[in-house]
Amino acid sequence: MNIPFVDLVAQYQTIKPEIDAAIAGCLGTASFIAGEKVRQFEDAFARFVGVRHCIGTGNGTDSIEILLKAMGMGSGNEVIVPALTWISTSEAVSSVGARPVFVDIHPDFYTIDTSRIEEKITARTKAIIPVHLYGLPAAMDELMRIASKHELLVLEDCAQSHGAVFKERKTGTFGQAASFSFYPGKNLGAYGDAGAMLCNDDRLAEQARMLGNHGQFGKHDHRIEGRNSRMDAMQAAVLTVKLKYLEAWNEKRIKAAQRYSALLKSSSVILPQTPAGSKHVFHLFVVRVKERDRALRVLESKGVSCGIHYPKALPFLKPYRYLNAGEVDFPVAAQVQDEILSLPMFPEITDERIEYVCETLRQAI
Ligand SMILES: *Cc1c(COP(=O)(O)O)cnc(C)c1O
Repeated sequence: MNIPFVDLVAQYQTIKPEIDAAIAGCLGTASFIAGEKVRQFEDAFARFVGVRHCIGTGNGTDSIEILLKAMGMGSGNEVIVPALTWISTSEAVSSVGARPVFVDIHPDFYTIDTSRIEEKITARTKAIIPVHLYGLPAAMDELMRIASKHELLVLEDCAQSHGAVFKERKTGTFGQAASFSFYPGKNLGAYGDAGAMLCNDDRLAEQARMLGNHGQFGKHDHRIEGRNSRMDAMQAAVLTVKLKYLEAWNEKRIKAAQRYSALLKSSSVILPQTPAGSKHVFHLFVVRVKERDRALRVLESKGVSCGIHYPKALPFLKPYRYLNAGEVDFPVAAQVQDEILSLPMFPEITDERIEYVCETLRQAI
């Protein structure tokens, strides 16, 4: 058997006529950037999340960066981020001239450990960026309590959590702002790069929209210096089609996760856990195994494509060497990074394939 890690072609096949028509519709109008199609998607996605404003961008990293800027973050400020996430989260902080301050992750849920946030807050701290890692919401009640106690802004990184729910509210509705990525492999993926910024505040939305469009309020009305980060009409058209299926696709991911968990239950594999009240949308299905690298080699040799998200926690990466972080500073991230293994996960994965992955993994360990 040959089992891909994700299968975007299989998904395309299920909605091909609609996607083809949507793309053809864009070619017919020759309006390729921003415009009506993008507005349509922005409105639909804002409604889906339950936030007033949605602004399309070029990608999810830009979304974080522009929102940080719009929220007033700059040099001299510190922004708290989790130690284990994709580098965009901290990269965006550095890009606006602020400093990322890493906090270790929770040993069971892998999202930011809220009990370790307060010790990192200084007079320069201005914001927290929780990441709903792998599709599981961070502990937003505790996080929002800490943020309001210390008067910090919260920007949710929802790049992996489209449709995830924490205590009856979707991720993206808790903080002052939220960033989304529609990178092709995400739960809601475009056919190229795309992202979005969401918020309820009118002024923040206006500022973020201007920053992503050369500081223009209206055509040629440049009120500030901005940059170019806009959503393509074709990506918006694709995303509008795919948004209708997002909830059903997430349910399929949850079913696949349940199947995996049932089959691996009585083994030494540590399974992902979902706290009561949270809806995990399994952007990734991440297990932990001892001797991970050996298990990974066996799986790959038997045709099972896996991933590691992420092999090195951010504080240990070269760009952050200036922090002089050692494993003792982030003990959970340091241990978890050597054990995590992402198994194939996509809505179209069959039970038969899941069974094969589990059997192979059991043999490998
Ligand atoms: C994918 C991702 C991003 C940014 O995505 P791009 O659209 O590729 O720039 C940001 N944060 C996290 C946690 C991600 O997984």
